[in-house]
Amino acid sequence: MSYLDRIDAYQEEMLSTLQELIAIPSVKTEAGGPGEPFGPDLARALNYVLTWGEKNGFATKNISGYAGHLEYGTGDETVGVLVHLDVVPAGDGWKYPPFSGQRAEARIYGRGAIDDKGPAIAAMYAIKALKEEGVKLNKKIRLIFGCDEESGWQCMEHYFKHEPKPEYGFTPDANFPLINCEKGQLGLVIEGELQSAQTGCRIESLTGGSRRNVVPEWAEAVITFPDQQSLEAFVASIPEERANEVQLSAGPKEQQLSIRVKGVSAHASLPQEGDNAVTKLVEIIATLNGTGGCWPAVRFIHECFGRETDGRGLGINYHDQISGDLTINLGVFKIEQQKVKMEVDIRYPLCTSGEELQQKIEQKLATYNLKITNSSALAPHYLAEDNWLIKTLLQAYREETGDQSAPLAIGGRTYAVTLGNAVAFGPVFPGRPEIAHQKDEYISIQDLMACTRIYAKALYELAKADTESV
Ligand SMILES: [Zn+2]
Repeated sequence: MSYLDRIDAYQEEMLSTLQELIAIPSVKTEAGGPGEPFGPDLARALNYVLTWGEKNGFATKNISGYAGHLEYGTGDETVGVLVHLDVVPAGDGWKYPPFSGQRAEARIYGRGAIDDKGPAIAAMYAIKALKEEGVKLNKKIRLIFGCDEESGWQCMEHYFKHEPKPEYGFTPDANFPLINCEKGQLGLVIEGELQSAQTGCRIESLTGGSRRNVVPEWAEAVITFPDQQSLEAFVASIPEERANEVQLSAGPKEQQLSIRVKGVSAHASLPQEGDNAVTKLVEIIATLNGTGGCWPAVRFIHECFGRETDGRGLGINYHDQISGDLTINLGVFKIEQQKVKMEVDIRYPLCTSGEELQQKIEQKLATYNLKITNSSALAPHYLAEDNWLIKTLLQAYREETGDQSAPLAIGGRTYAVTLGNAVAFGPVFPGRPEIAHQKDEYISIQDLMACTRIYAKALYELAKADTESV
């Protein structure tokens, strides 16, 4: 028997273990008693998997309910696998109760099935198969269970205050084949004091969006016109194709117009999948080209953002083979009482840096009387394709699936960065729908078993190898 044959034989036991884990509604809540920093249900989920570990002969440790681990093997180095037990709230409209773990259509349904309880079960049984088979390893394998992935990663912050980081690792919490490039991030707050002219069209207010990392779905402006004629001319100038996205109403005062524009929301790491309501509104009102208050800020948005999401208007449309395009999202925009404030979210490729981008943007801003008042940056997380860890993980995936797809680059951040020398590796196979956080979340039994085999192979190769000689 090989460790892979053992995995096939575990199938029914795996499914019932997954069902029991899904049945614990481990949504983060207020702290409970000692050892329950994220509430009693998360503590229960952590105890459930650690008890499973003890029963199966693993060394286990609970780090005050923030996280825990089970461990197999001995050695100076450790291969870490990081999964999480917390889930997002279920929401409504499920065809099977979200915490039932219902088996139907060759799938297990339930909140957490794919994110991230199914993958946790896959990793648990992958390690169990290696242990039962008695394979010889030169490194320890440690399976870490985090309890706060969905909101803040406090679990890992606490865990690594008490435990060393593994030398190598992966996180089954995203996509196959694996994600070896997570773009850099730059968040900017841009502000300006504006002197208003006394004549011409005047923007009284303009607001849109509420979070930097979300493409605004709505934007609204109130404009005062110098006379009724110019107001009517403006209304007539709005392109017909915009008719069902634009709502006009009389403003609170004479010769005022309120304009509300609808866009499409999306995550800031994929702004091209949304339709930014602020830049759309600005495109409409930019035709006024007025001389009154707030126009420099409007011109800035019109000229430096336009409707693009790759930063070309700002001269920062960087791109490279590995990471793809830079993306930019104007997530929050506010003109109130002739003051401007905006928040911008940039995801940048490996070929540039946060400092370089900030410098270029500052130069542009100067001509519009605007400046950066706050910034925050996260460097890219990247492991080259010829890195031993990446090669080993890819090989395990390719042997199991025959799929030769290249590693992925994304604008988001995965849990893997908390591990250090690690990447996100599965569980979602190419072409599968993204069902994490949705109603009717599920994992197909076939995919669950394939994940388990891939993780077992990868762990075996990582832990058996003598790293010095490769
Ligand atoms: Zn997750």
